[in-house]
Amino acid sequence: MEAANTDLSDGSAGGKNTESTAAGGAETPSGPPTLGMILLAVEELWPESLAEEWDEVGLVAGHPSAPVSRILFAVDPTLEVIEEAVEWGAGLLITHHPLLLKGVTSVAATTAKGRAVHRLIESGTGLLTVHTNGDSAVGGVSDVLADALGLQNVAPLTQAAAGLPEEGIGRVGDLEEVLTLGDFAARVFGILPAVAGGVRVSGDRDGLVRRVAVCGGAGDSLFGEVRASNADVYLTADLRHHPASEAREAAVNDRPYLIDVSHFASEWLWLPAAAEALGNVLTDQGHDVQIRVSTTNSDPWDFILTPGGD
Ligand SMILES: [Zn+2]
Repeated sequence: MEAANTDLSDGSAGGKNTESTAAGGAETPSGPPTLGMILLAVEELWPESLAEEWDEVGLVAGHPSAPVSRILFAVDPTLEVIEEAVEWGAGLLITHHPLLLKGVTSVAATTAKGRAVHRLIESGTGLLTVHTNGDSAVGGVSDVLADALGLQNVAPLTQAAAGLPEEGIGRVGDLEEVLTLGDFAARVFGILPAVAGGVRVSGDRDGLVRRVAVCGGAGDSLFGEVRASNADVYLTADLRHHPASEAREAAVNDRPYLIDVSHFASEWLWLPAAAEALGNVLTDQGHDVQIRVSTTNSDPWDFILTPGGD
């Protein structure tokens, strides 16, 4: 598999500038915001009330009174990402995935998660999780994915219980023109960061698609909603054998086709948009803060062997 057109190493996505400086938007810039002020801005963009019940979002480490002049966005709070944040001097690391989702009884540095907590606290780096609240919000993970694919008339696949009609998990919309499944898969490949696993497709390469359902991250719980949306193709991540196989068996007129992408890649696309959105809010408030996207590839897979692959 050849590399996709987006290289993480330069910190940019599809030519977008992922580094923004929020400074001097108001008449009297107030210098770096405190972590507590950033939490208020984050709540404005990705309210915690939009998070799923099982989720754990919000502040994981950090003093609300601490001034923060640099913020790093990443998908995963891995040790490598935390090290990148510390080396850059970020006062706050915002990740999509929670470091601590299940109950813990120890954060001793004898485990990877314990070492992560120690590194964060000892270096004075705050950690904030924006997970399913970031999925559900307008401008969230699946919204950005839909936008990058050029979808029109976009609506959630399932509406948020405590949100606006345009908020919720997954999105469905229409391409401007009919594409073959092969050409659509190439478009998907082109917008995502380069990862070892590439893009897997189930369906006729020459089949035509126009209505597209997407869900960044693992979306195998949404097949019912995808069928109800009359999507020609469903793009998500982490599709295992049985859910994928059963969905193809249940297909009507061979649809929806399936496109399975890297979980990391599907959610990484949100980071530049999220960094820009937070930068805009903080700029409007007159704060002086640098925001950028992590250049660490935290997709767990490193290489793949395929029969007759290119
Ligand atoms: Zn995820």
